Amino acid sequence: MNSHDALIVGGSYAGLSAAIMLARARRRVLILDAGSPRNRFAAHSHGVLAQDGRAGSEILADARAQLAAYATVEFVDTTIRTATGRDGDFVLTDTRGHEFRGRKLLLATGVTDTLPDIPGVAERWGRTVLHCPYCHGYEIGGGPIGLLSSGPTAAQHAGLIADWGDVTLFTHGQPAPEDEHAPLLRRRKVAVETTAIAALEGDGDTLEHIRLQDGRRIVVRALFVALNNQPAGTLAAQLGCAFDPTPAGTIIRTDANKATGIAGVYATGDAALARTNITLAAADGVVAGVSLHHALIADEVVAG
Ligand SMILES: Cc1cc2nc3c(=O)[nH]c(=O)nc-3n(C[C@H](O)[C@H](O)[C@H](O)COP(=O)(O)OP(=O)(O)OC[C@H]3O[C@@H](n4cnc5c(N)ncnc54)[C@H](O)[C@@H]3O)c2cc1C
Repeated sequence: MNSHDALIVGGSYAGLSAAIMLARARRRVLILDAGSPRNRFAAHSHGVLAQDGRAGSEILADARAQLAAYATVEFVDTTIRTATGRDGDFVLTDTRGHEFRGRKLLLATGVTDTLPDIPGVAERWGRTVLHCPYCHGYEIGGGPIGLLSSGPTAAQHAGLIADWGDVTLFTHGQPAPEDEHAPLLRRRKVAVETTAIAALEGDGDTLEHIRLQDGRRIVVRALFVALNNQPAGTLAAQLGCAFDPTPAGTIIRTDANKATGIAGVYATGDAALARTNITLAAADGVVAGVSLHHALIADEVVAG
C-alpha cells in the first residue's frame, strides 16, 4: 500500500496552505477533499490581501493548480469516512471503501455552520444573511440592517456592526439587552425589536424586509446572525482528539504547533481556530504544515 508522508483531509485554504509547505520540502503529500469550502455560499471573498473581491472558488482553483505542479503532491476528490491507526501509520477510508495510508495526519476539515431555523434564512445565507461584517458588510452599502440576537453579547455585537448600517437588534425570544448596555445602544443608534421574527422576505436572495409575528414589516437590506460552529464531521472524535469551547462554538484542541493531543495528528483552519477567515485559516495551515514537517524529520532522526 502506497504510504505518504502526510495525509491532509480538507483541501481548502488551510489544507492547501499546509500542503504547499510540505510540497516545497519535497514531502509526499496526499490531499483528500470533498469540495465543500465553508464560503461556497458567497459569490465573492473580501478582506483577503491581494484577492479582494475574487470568488473563493477561483482562489482555491489557483492554489490547487500551483500545488499540482509539485511532483510529490497528489489529490483525491473524495469524502473520508473513517480515520484509524497511529503515529507513523494512519489509515483513512473514504465513502467508497478506498484506503489511504500516511505517516502523519492533518485535519483541515472546516466547520459546520448551523443557521437559525427561521423561514427565509437558509436560502439567503452568504448573500443577504451574513455572519462576518468584515467579509461582506461593505458591499451592503449602508442603510437599514438587522442583527439576530445570540444572547448576552448581542448589544456589543450590535454596537460593532453599526459601522456598516443602521442596526435593528431583533431579540427573537432572547432577553432584551440589560440596562447597562443602553448607553452603547443609544450612542450607536441601535433600535431594539422584541417581537419575534416570522420570516425573511424579498425577491430571490435579496432581503427587502423582516416580517414579524405581529404582522409588521421592518425594512432591512441584510441580516447578521451569530453562529454556533462545530468541527465538520467526526474524524477528530474518532481519533480521540480533545475539543475546546469558544465564543463561536467548539474547536479541535491544538497546541501552538497545531498538534492535537493524539500523536501524529494535527488540526488546522476553522476547525481549530477561535477566530476564522480565509487569511487566518491559510496562516494556520502554514503553521501546521511546517510543524508537521519538523515532526517528520524528528522521527527520521530517531529511526536513524
Ligand atoms: C458565507 C460565508 C462567507 C465567507 N466569506 C469570507 C470572506 O469574504 N473572506 C474571508 O476571509 N472569509 C470568509 N469566510 C470564512 C471562510 O470561508 C473560512 O474561514 C475558510 O473557508 C476556512 O478555511 P478552511 O480551509 O479551514 O475550511 P473550509 O474552507 O471550510 O474547507 C474545509 C474543506 O474540508 C473538506 N472536508 C471536510 N470534511 C471532509 C472529509 N471528511 N473528507 C474530505 N474532505 C472533507 C470540505 O469539503 C472543504 O473543502 C466566509 C464564510 C462563510 C460561511
